Formats: sequence, C-alpha cells, structure tokens
Amino acid sequence: MGKPTGFMEFTRQIPTERAPLERLHDWNEFHLHLSSKELQTQGARCMDCGVPFCHTGTLISGMASGCPINNLIPEWNDLVYRGRWREALDRLHATNNFPEFTGRVCPAPCEGSCTLGIIEPPVTIKNIECSIIDHGFEEGWVVPHPPARRTGKKVAVVGSGPSGLACAAQLNSAGHSVTVYERADRIGGLLMYGIPNMKLDKATVQRRIDLMKAEGVTFVANTEIGKDLPARTLVEEFDAVVLCCGATKPRDLPIEGRTLKGIHFAMEFLHGNTKNLLDQYNNGAGHCPPISAAGLDVIVIGGGDTGTDCVGTSLRQKCKSLVQFEILPQPPLTRQADNPWPEWPKILRVDYGQAEAIARDGGDPRHYSILTKKFVGDENGRVKELHTVQVEWQNVNGRFIPVDVPGTEKVWPAQLVLLALGFLGPEDRIIEELALERDPRSNVKADYGKFATSVKGVFSAGDMRRGQSLVVWAINEGRAAARECDRYLMGETSLP
Ligand SMILES: Cc1cc2nc3c(=O)[nH]c(=O)nc-3n(C[C@H](O)[C@H](O)[C@H](O)COP(=O)(O)OP(=O)(O)OC[C@H]3O[C@@H](n4cnc5c(N)ncnc54)[C@H](O)[C@@H]3O)c2cc1C
Ligand code: SF4
Repeated sequence: MGKPTGFMEFTRQIPTERAPLERLHDWNEFHLHLSSKELQTQGARCMDCGVPFCHTGTLISGMASGCPINNLIPEWNDLVYRGRWREALDRLHATNNFPEFTGRVCPAPCEGSCTLGIIEPPVTIKNIECSIIDHGFEEGWVVPHPPARRTGKKVAVVGSGPSGLACAAQLNSAGHSVTVYERADRIGGLLMYGIPNMKLDKATVQRRIDLMKAEGVTFVANTEIGKDLPARTLVEEFDAVVLCCGATKPRDLPIEGRTLKGIHFAMEFLHGNTKNLLDQYNNGAGHCPPISAAGLDVIVIGGGDTGTDCVGTSLRQKCKSLVQFEILPQPPLTRQADNPWPEWPKILRVDYGQAEAIARDGGDPRHYSILTKKFVGDENGRVKELHTVQVEWQNVNGRFIPVDVPGTEKVWPAQLVLLALGFLGPEDRIIEELALERDPRSNVKADYGKFATSVKGVFSAGDMRRGQSLVVWAINEGRAAARECDRYLMGETSLP
C-alpha cells in the first residue's frame, strides 16, 4: 500500500528517456530508470485505496482495464517503498514470467485504472515493475529454477512469442519436457522481430531465453510446423501440443498502384531491419537493412504500435521526410464523459516515434481522418506519390463510416510506403492441416479459460486465439493454457 499519506506528499515522476535527437543515432534502448530512492518515493504514492482496480485485468468496452496478468501491484509498490526489493521481485515473478518485457513495452492498462488516477496522475506502476526486475538481474537474483522432478510427459509448443514462452516456462516448471518450435532463425516471436531494439533490447529477450534453456526447455528454430514438419507428427509424438503462432496475416490496402515497388508491409520492414542489425552486430559489419528508408520520403499508413515502430525505425535509417496517416479522428487530450475511469483512457499520446519525429522535423508526423485513394508510380514502376482525401466519420444506420470530404484531395511525395494497418488473424497452414475449428473472426476456436481446440490434446493461446493484442495478454494466455494443458495431462494442476 505504500505510505498512507504518500499520494498527498509526492507527485508522479517518470524517468526521462534518452533525448530523442541523441538516441536517433543508434539502436540502443531509450528507457532510463529512476534512482532507487526516487522509486521508493513513487511506490509510496500507492494509497491503500481499499479495492485496487489496477490488478483486476478485466475487459471494459473491449479494452483492458487493470493488469491482465493480475500483477500484485499494491504489494510490490509497498515492498519497493520499504526497500525490500528481493521480496518485491518474488511477488512480481509470482504472476509474471517476463516483467522485463512488460516493464518496457506494456501500455500499462494498470495505470489507466489506478484509483489515485481519479484525482491525481496515477502511480508510476510500469516503471516500478521494470526497475524491480532490472534490479533483480543486476543483483544476480534471477537464476534458473529447473523443476525438481520430471513427469515423463512431452509437450510441443509451436511459436516462441510471449504466449509460447510463458506457456513453455509454466509447463516446464510443472515437470513436463517442453520443446518450442519456431520458424524464424531466432526465438522470441514479436519480442525478437516485431518490437524494435530501441524499445526492447534483443539481449534482454535472449537473456530470458537462455534462462529457460538452463531450466530445461528445448528450443528448435528454423522449423516451420506444417511445412518443415507436419503438425500431425507433433500430435502423434507428443502428449499435448500448444499452438501459439500469433496473428501474423497483415491487413492489405488493395487500391490502385498497390503492386508498385517501394510499398511494403510493416513487418517486412521491421523484421528485416532487426535481423540485419543482429546479424551485422554478430559479424561486426555496418548496418544495411534489406528495405531502407535512407534519404527517402516515407509514409507510414496506420497509427498504432506497429506504425510507431516504423516511424522510429525510418528515422534511425535517416529518412528524408516522414508522415504517418491514421484514418480515425484525432483522439481528445483528456478523458471524455463516455470513457470514464477505470476504462483505458482513449486520449492522444505522443509515443517514442512521434517524439523523435517532433524533435527532428519540428512537428507531429501524424495526420488524422485521412484516407489513401491510390498510389502512383514513376517510369520504373516505383511508387512516387500517394493521393489522399480527408474523411468525416458519420453515423449511418448505427454504424460509423468514413465519408470523403470534397475538395480535400491531396498528393504526397513518397518513395517508401509502409502498411501498418493491423492484422487479420492467424495463418491457415496448421489450422487447415489439423482441421481446427475457427471462431467468427478466423482465429483458432478455443474458449478463453479452457484453451482447448476442437482437436483433443491440442491447445491454443495468444494472438492465434484472441487476434492481434498485447504482450501482457499473450503472457496471460500462455500461462492459463499451460494450466489447462497440465490438467489435461495429469488430471489435476497446481499451476497458478
Ligand atoms: C510491430 C509490432 C509492435 C508491437 N508492439 C507492442 C508493444 O509495444 N506492446 C505490446 O504489448 N504489444 C505490442 N505488439 C503486440 C504483441 O507483440 C503481440 O500481441 C504478442 O507478441 C503476441 O504474442 P504471441 O506469442 O501470441 O505471438 P507472436 O509474438 O506473434 O509469436 C508467434 C510466433 O509463432 C511463430 N510461428 C508462426 N507460425 C509458425 C509455424 N507454423 N511454425 C513455427 N513457428 C511459427 C512466428 O514466427 C512467431 O515467432 C506489437 C505487435 C507488432 C506487430
Ligand atoms: S504488465 Fe502491464 S498492466 Fe500489468 S502491471 Fe505491468 S505495466 Fe501494468
């Protein structure tokens, strides 16, 4: 609970990040930490509110309210306030296998539902979480914990993103022998090849994977299930299979000129950049990504996390100019009456990529309520411009739809266009091979809480089951699917 009067004595403080203009010259993380003393003060702001909403993890209006993995936030806030870091770490690991990931990349729905947030800026929960785990690593407290005994059961986990990793860690702790299959050359899913290095250092991802290896988890990279190895083989050779393959089918923009050179899905751009960065680091050569924004006018279509990562990456590659389009209207600066606490606040945020663009180019790169009508190319078949129109969102028979505003047509120069329009769902290959049932949104059908698919002994978790979401939900689902898989294997479970 922190200090009973702490919220009246201290104001919210969050760490300053590395200066945008400085960090644009490298790929190192931009996060900085507060000092231990400052963090104790921040922990003291946790106010013994009685019913803490911060750890509820419910969905309100389709958005997370409170921590989806039910982190015991008031407890570790109090322990940090008292300087009992080791115990805070234990409380944190009780609910979260990977706080070093969530502490860096989680949008922190916990803070949106913090009770103090009704009257004051909320407790700085995410930064405290990150500092607890980073402190734990620095002190050497985070060590492998192999299970005391093995059950003799074998489980295959397909996909090594946060859901697959959380699932594997939990099943391994229950004593099952777990093999994680991953088609990419490196383990980690979107933690490795989606979220860029400056937001989540890949050495941080690798450190956790190495710990899991030391605990007995087997990782098999460069192996696509359904192609290099039939999914049916896993079903036959393992006692259970958990599918955690993500929702990797990108949404396209099938308008005139889409096939021109220079128009790419965001993930082609981001994956290539990180792979190149890591490969080059390994052999000590310079940085030369397969898709480069260097010297180009770049347009990012899509205003979410993926779009922001494209902005930050393009700026580091030294693009000439950069704009980002969002079809929705600009969010308000403060909560509106129809978005009350403890809902996730739908307000305008300046994420790291936009902060960098503002610092470099003098203005926010985002343009709202804008619709791309067509791409136009040059004589070499390469995109040279985008044609757009402003839209107005109108309620037509209860549905909000974008309607063109006449006279707002505009032409934008662009030699590189990055499509960050979201994801449609999981890929078909394994689903078709195993004839798994799907839900109406084309995700694998496996009820939340049970995680069992239509095929006996096959479970599914994370984005593959719920659609593109958040790292923290993937951890939630991976842990819960492990619990159900353990129950299926042993008839009972003691996994949390
Ligand atoms: C660019 C980007 C940035 C994001 N930023 C954030 C953020 O800042 N914060 C946040 O909370 N969330 C963020 N997200 C969302 C978050 O990364 C995902 O919700 C989360 O990673 C889902 O985890 P997952 O384990 O279900 O799937 P994934 O992380 O997608 O992992 C699935 C893995 O399965 C592998 N795979 C697929 N098919 C096969 C197969 N047949 N055989 C073997 N392997 C296979 C894939 O290669 C992949 O490695 C971001 C997403 C993207 C795309
Ligand atoms: S995982 Fe996310 S929601 Fe949960 S405490 Fe950490 S920052 Fe908050």
